[in-house]
Amino acid sequence: MVFVDSPLFAVFLSIYVFVAGAFFGSFLNVVGMRIPRGESIIFPGSHCDLCKRPLMFYELIPILSYGFLRGTCRTCGGRVSAKHVVFETLAGVLALYTLWHEPTWTLRSEWWLFWGLLLVTSSTDLEAMIVPNVISYPSAALFLLICVVLHPRSISDALLGMAVGFLLITGIHLLSKGKMGLGDAKLYLSIGIVLGPYGTLFSLIAASMLGTLIGYSLRFSGRLKPRQAIPFVPFIAGGVFLTSLVGSPVIDWYLHLLHVSPQ
Ligand SMILES: [Zn+2]
Repeated sequence: MVFVDSPLFAVFLSIYVFVAGAFFGSFLNVVGMRIPRGESIIFPGSHCDLCKRPLMFYELIPILSYGFLRGTCRTCGGRVSAKHVVFETLAGVLALYTLWHEPTWTLRSEWWLFWGLLLVTSSTDLEAMIVPNVISYPSAALFLLICVVLHPRSISDALLGMAVGFLLITGIHLLSKGKMGLGDAKLYLSIGIVLGPYGTLFSLIAASMLGTLIGYSLRFSGRLKPRQAIPFVPFIAGGVFLTSLVGSPVIDWYLHLLHVSPQ
């Protein structure tokens, strides 16, 4: 939670953070589309996926460009994936959410980075059903470093969370005979560090519930074939969001029931 005394400043700050978040989300989505294809994340610059024409500056404004151009390319008339506008909007909303609602977990100020990680891995998972090691290992190292430097008192929680997340998903991976990928387990290294053991468990339960609910709705509506796998990282991201939103009071209440005092 940030404290500002002028309402006007609060409005400007919110707009600024939303726009910055949307630009960041646009970049992360493209990174998530390029890494699985083995393309550079910098060159060539943004271009139409279909005709490869480089985009003009006014076609790079998150959310608005998509609206102006009605989701089509100016040159080839091909449809621009709605995934762009969804990611840009989500990233803006998450940036704004983090500005006004600081989650009270092991790490307090690193949530922008954390949402960035969840967005880029959601993008790679939707694109190619993978969580690339070049993203998951360095992020786990980075979050661990942040924890050691900025929150040394939370290190045991972070390590425990990391172990709980990784081992649980690896267990599910083995039991499900590979339906749940090991990429998800490596992503949970970072999630465990940020959420700690209880938050990690909560997020995993929430993600499974969301996955089951949405998976079955897609299957019943015929948009998903029987046995067709669905990318799980977007549900993990949803589970983490629910954890940041309601996890803390629910976990406290549950631990109180069990007569365990949360730290
Ligand atoms: Zn085009």
